[in-house]
Amino acid sequence: KNDQLEQWDRDNFFHPSTHLAEFARGNAPQRVITGGSGCHITDREGNRLLDAFAGLYCVNVGYGRPEIAEAIADQARELAYYHAYVGHGTEAAITLSKMILDRAPANMSKVYFGLGGSDANETNVKLIWYYNNVLDRPEKKKIISRWRGYHGSGLVTGSLTGLELFHKKFDLPLAQVIHTDAPYYYRRDDLSMSEADFTAHCAAELEALIEREGADTIAAFIGEPVLGTGGLVPPPAGYWEAIQKILKKHDILLIADEVVTGFGRLGTMFGSTHYGMEPDIITIAKGLTSAYAPLSGSIVSKDVWKVLEEGTDMLGPIGHGWTYSAHPIGAAAGVANLKLIDELKLVKNAGETGAYLNAAMADALGAHAHVGDIRGEGMLCALEFVKDRDTREFFDPSDKVGPRIAAALLEEGVIGRAMPQGDILGFAPPFCLTRDEADEVVAKTAKAVAAVLD
Ligand code: PLP
Repeated sequence: KNDQLEQWDRDNFFHPSTHLAEFARGNAPQRVITGGSGCHITDREGNRLLDAFAGLYCVNVGYGRPEIAEAIADQARELAYYHAYVGHGTEAAITLSKMILDRAPANMSKVYFGLGGSDANETNVKLIWYYNNVLDRPEKKKIISRWRGYHGSGLVTGSLTGLELFHKKFDLPLAQVIHTDAPYYYRRDDLSMSEADFTAHCAAELEALIEREGADTIAAFIGEPVLGTGGLVPPPAGYWEAIQKILKKHDILLIADEVVTGFGRLGTMFGSTHYGMEPDIITIAKGLTSAYAPLSGSIVSKDVWKVLEEGTDMLGPIGHGWTYSAHPIGAAAGVANLKLIDELKLVKNAGETGAYLNAAMADALGAHAHVGDIRGEGMLCALEFVKDRDTREFFDPSDKVGPRIAAALLEEGVIGRAMPQGDILGFAPPFCLTRDEADEVVAKTAKAVAAVLD
């Protein structure tokens, strides 16, 4: 064991999303992860933790899969890198593109590879701007996103993200990005509103925004099938149908950001099909490789592809690419990962064990005086804590109820995630979660909630 590792970490390592001053003083969590197997990780102190958030909802097939490790090693030995520019490719990347399209909704046509979800959404915006230039309507540029959506941390993608933390101090959002209401029924302004009325309200708000801005200035709408980092919120009934009707009417493209939901998290291969969405572009990342290597993609529809392809006859090649687009090691990880998902029937397990986890959580905590909402879909589950469940009075954010419960849960050996906005404890376990492990998550969550709130 290297006795200096923690010191080197403090001296040299710039951690994302971390209170840097507290970390430097040694007052913030510091944990060096050394291994993982199935749904568990181990740290340098020898703790074994049940990771009920699959890293950052990405290690979907679980840790320590030798099939993926070997595929990566074989690829590294054979050809660690070649680029994908001007018609170049590798067997791994070409094979993966075919496997993705075989699984994607029928109207999808091609996949453009990137590294992570943020750069894939960045690509989407550029492709759509190029698309509207080909169609000779350069003024049709704005992108509509939702408050509480999460689409990345870059300048455009941080703008698309509808969370305060990602805007303040950065002068975001950029002017081309506008936001509409979150489809968050539990947090509706008018508590007497039915779910159907709330869906109609969200649709009306969107339409009013489009009319205010002018449809001829709006290129696309981006949304996660289920709001993720914004609070793990499945949409109210009929939401996507109502939204799509408006988008079609105004000739506005739909980007489904499936970075979290793609490849099985909702118990279906794609969240779009789960909710009857017909996107023009789908963003994929995380679950594409189960995070064994960085890789993302933008899947474009046949109609979008046709315009882009014809556009290059008019405008020349699309000036957009990354050195690591379609990196062969990421692609080899993706091929092995998608095979494993099929062989182990993990999409089915995500649906079934996810439903079991959600039902068990509702049984254990549904009547708790400070649990206002328990919600989920597939292998996503969230608890929202409130001061008073009858009036839906929230806790003061400075009480840090959500983070304190997540910390108490960690003491019990289970990792959940305090979502960044509101007192929300989220779970997004690997798809290989067993019922026994789900029971453990629920029992320890009940203990953690009691420790903080009873
Ligand atoms: N889109 C969604 C829905 C996400 O949840 C995330 C990350 O959590 C991203 C995009 C950004 O992906 P990345 O962190 O790989 O850039």
